[in-house]
Amino acid sequence: MKVYIDGKFYDEDKAKVSVFDHGLLYGDGIFEGIRAYHGRVFKLKEHIDRLYYSAKAILLTIPMSPAEMTKAVLDTCRKNKITDGYIRLIVTRGVGTLGLNPNRCKAPSVIVIAGKIQLYPPEMYQRGMDIVTVATTRNLHNAVNPAIKSLNYLNNILAKIEANIAGVEEAIMLNSDGYVAECTGDNLFLIKGNELLTPPLSAGALYGITRGVAMELGRELGLKISEPNLTRYDVYNADECFLTGTGAEIIPVVKVDGRVIGTGQPGVISQQLIAKYHALTKVSGEPI
Ligand code: PMP
Repeated sequence: MKVYIDGKFYDEDKAKVSVFDHGLLYGDGIFEGIRAYHGRVFKLKEHIDRLYYSAKAILLTIPMSPAEMTKAVLDTCRKNKITDGYIRLIVTRGVGTLGLNPNRCKAPSVIVIAGKIQLYPPEMYQRGMDIVTVATTRNLHNAVNPAIKSLNYLNNILAKIEANIAGVEEAIMLNSDGYVAECTGDNLFLIKGNELLTPPLSAGALYGITRGVAMELGRELGLKISEPNLTRYDVYNADECFLTGTGAEIIPVVKVDGRVIGTGQPGVISQQLIAKYHALTKVSGEPI
């Protein structure tokens, strides 16, 4: 594998960053997780846009234009002969001193890794997921804003550890008001009658790219889309539930906190959305 770092390609074992990089020392940086399907990078513009929004939010000037960043992603895919895979785009604050002041960092570093994707087990897509709600609260807007896809994922990792201890793969995180925000690495959706519901971004969710696609596909199916504040009561009493994420795509959820959702099988509408999602990934994306 060849890894892109600041304009050059390095073999996997030589692809290294300094121990003084503030991305490592403080989680000071941002990232994107992107998928390639059938020789195209899916929703690349949306991911690049979100990367620059994250950068703006942390007052980090990415040392290249969005067009150059797009080229770096595509070049890395080409270099690694990727047609289907997962791309990790990282911008760190760069090498600095041991103090946390970002002004002491010389220049941000841009890293692109294009490799294989690790998915949830295939039977989980067939049977549906069992998830739980965890005690770790989603980040507050006035702390590390949950819209920033930052390198500091410790809050979500703490929630993931709780999920692991409970013996499940994903977990619902609530916000400080007790409303559903999202999962540790996925957005959450409910179906109730003809309505597709997902927590508003103001509840503390990442502006998920797959979330946006699911809403678009739901609209095509004639569903009424809404973004109300949702409680666990709403989740338990939904007809269907599913999660969305670049890695997970659309995955049905059949049990939450021991409560069976709907029939206990992946829902009919969820399955239609999954089929439409796969169809879209076959025909759209930036050609590599
Ligand atoms: N929420 C969180 C916390 C995430 O890290 C991610 C990305 N894995 C998502 C939601 C899903 O976002 P996207 O559809 O853009 O991958």
